[in-house]
Amino acid sequence: MKEIYLDNAATTKTYSEVVKAMNEVLLKDYGNPSSLHKKGEKAFDLINKVKKKISSELGCKTHEIIFTSGATEANNLGLQGIAKANKSNRNKIFISSIEHPSVSETANALSNWGFEIVRIPVNSEGFIDFKFLEREVDSQTLLVSVMLVNNVFGTIQDIRKIGRFCRDKGVLFHTDAVQGFGKLKMSVNDWCIDLLSGSGHKIGGPKGIGFLYIREGIKLMPLFYGGGQESGLRSGTENVPSIVGFGKALELYKKENWKNVEKMRDYFILEVEKIGGKINGSKKNRISNNLHFSFSGVDSEKLVLGLSQKEIYVSSGSACDSKKKKEDLVLKAIGVSDKDARSSIRISLSPKIRKKDVDFVIEKIEKMIR
Ligand code: PMP
Repeated sequence: MKEIYLDNAATTKTYSEVVKAMNEVLLKDYGNPSSLHKKGEKAFDLINKVKKKISSELGCKTHEIIFTSGATEANNLGLQGIAKANKSNRNKIFISSIEHPSVSETANALSNWGFEIVRIPVNSEGFIDFKFLEREVDSQTLLVSVMLVNNVFGTIQDIRKIGRFCRDKGVLFHTDAVQGFGKLKMSVNDWCIDLLSGSGHKIGGPKGIGFLYIREGIKLMPLFYGGGQESGLRSGTENVPSIVGFGKALELYKKENWKNVEKMRDYFILEVEKIGGKINGSKKNRISNNLHFSFSGVDSEKLVLGLSQKEIYVSSGSACDSKKKKEDLVLKAIGVSDKDARSSIRISLSPKIRKKDVDFVIEKIEKMIR
């Protein structure tokens, strides 16, 4: 039995080229980037090369990229860092009501520090209520954070419109771009983004590495204090092997045939609908590899476990929080009933998906829900 891994929004299989590149750093270029000697210099250069790759992807400067242990840390650094550095000025922070817990829980923590957290409602497709934003953002607003692509149902937000609005209002704008980075073309300047988070393991890179883009000139407080690496914003010896792996992954991931993935997703959606599945989220503005659907009356956890026995790996929500049922809140925000949420499945395709895999999975699902 060959495994069919369809949980790529949770994490991806690491490219073998990434493993090779990381191995080389671990065995050969293992210097500390802060060391003065040649080995240190080499490690420092390796980091900068990856910063160049990421910054050319975003259209920013290399020194505007800060490496972190992942997007959870990047989101925390973005929100907490801005909040701590600007507390005396403005005290309102807006987040969308469908953010990943690394944003929504950070916002909850900030509310204990005296910040007013405003949750922007979304419609049934997962798009934020822009009129709400226009009406509610005021002179006390410090930051708006809206994710580029939702990790549960894949809706792609109009980040450019939100960014431009925030810039006009003189409000900082953060976007969690984890689920779109490497798949979608983006420009932090054109989209007026001040802070942007990304993660390595969602694009065929290693786990435990991510970054925060911070527009030059923005005041931010670090989460940790120490040796002052990463312009003092992220102390701690840099994770050079993972940074190099992240860079290699980006290079490969960008070259994947995303148009074909989109075709496979649309075919998958049609097949799911044929067997009675109801698609959640947006049909037209959805990331190329995401499907999210409910089967009325079916226990999704049973379905996930049943498929797992056949080495087909899907998700009943978002893996990082599936035990805490945070995804239910996100689904509730787009109007999915509790009952439908409990019978919902997320399938997130890899770029290697083939039509025969789709047919095989549909056949297995159909048998299990009958
Ligand atoms: N934001 C989104 C939208 C995500 O999907 C994830 C990963 N589930 C994260 C943030 C957290 O990323 P990491 O695993 O790198 O901490």
